Amino acid sequence: MRKPILAGNWKMFKTVSQALSYVEHLEGLLAEIQGVEAADVVICAPATSLYPLHNQLEGSRIKLGAQNVHQAEEGAYTGESSAIMLKDAGANYVIIGHSERRQYFGETDESVNAKTQQALKHGLLPIVCVGEDLDQRNQGVTNTLVESQVRAAFSAVSVEDVTRCVVAYEPIWAIGTGMTATAQDANAVCAHIRTVLSDLYGKAAADQIRIQYGGSVKPDNIAELMSQSDIDGALVGGASLDPGSFSKLVKEA
Ligand code: 13P
Repeated sequence: MRKPILAGNWKMFKTVSQALSYVEHLEGLLAEIQGVEAADVVICAPATSLYPLHNQLEGSRIKLGAQNVHQAEEGAYTGESSAIMLKDAGANYVIIGHSERRQYFGETDESVNAKTQQALKHGLLPIVCVGEDLDQRNQGVTNTLVESQVRAAFSAVSVEDVTRCVVAYEPIWAIGTGMTATAQDANAVCAHIRTVLSDLYGKAAADQIRIQYGGSVKPDNIAELMSQSDIDGALVGGASLDPGSFSKLVKEA
């Protein structure tokens, strides 16, 4: 079966010293959770904290993720970080195509695809984000939109590579708003994503790919989300910023 994956996305929060004291605290709290090794726990930190966290987390159960990657190998791209650099700084995972990056930084389905391929090439595990905004949900086009995002993101990605990817379904209207999709609605979209992956790669591969839900996930709604057939974890913003609430969420999951 699929191993659950609980990832905190810190977004643009925490200095290096705050990041280090957070993981020290989280580590202690996770150690008290029975069966915690049954899940992957990932912290997606700002690029500035990756390397110090990597040093501190040696031998830890907490895995590291970056929040973005450039699609080029290297070059004159002021302000960007390459997959090679992020991997070298200690990241295992990288979030790709978060709705905030699509909205504020002009990321497109094409750049998401290029970044996904680049990450895979250098051994970073992509967490590929998809999801609709409120207008699209109200128009009833959620499944169509998410399907086209998934097909585009994995264009020319091999079946071996796709099984290393995680898909995060994050409805934009649920991010940071306190409005969560019902567990049933979230699961219906995640199940649709798995059908699309099955169509692209076959059922055996689709059954291996982990699909997360994200959008106002909290310690008190995670259990119901995790009980759904096609939700294998969560991508957590606000509730991941405090080690107490994130560890509680891991425990409830
Ligand atoms: P919130 O959990 O704060 O709604 O954020 C979700 C998110 O965007 C995670 O990537």
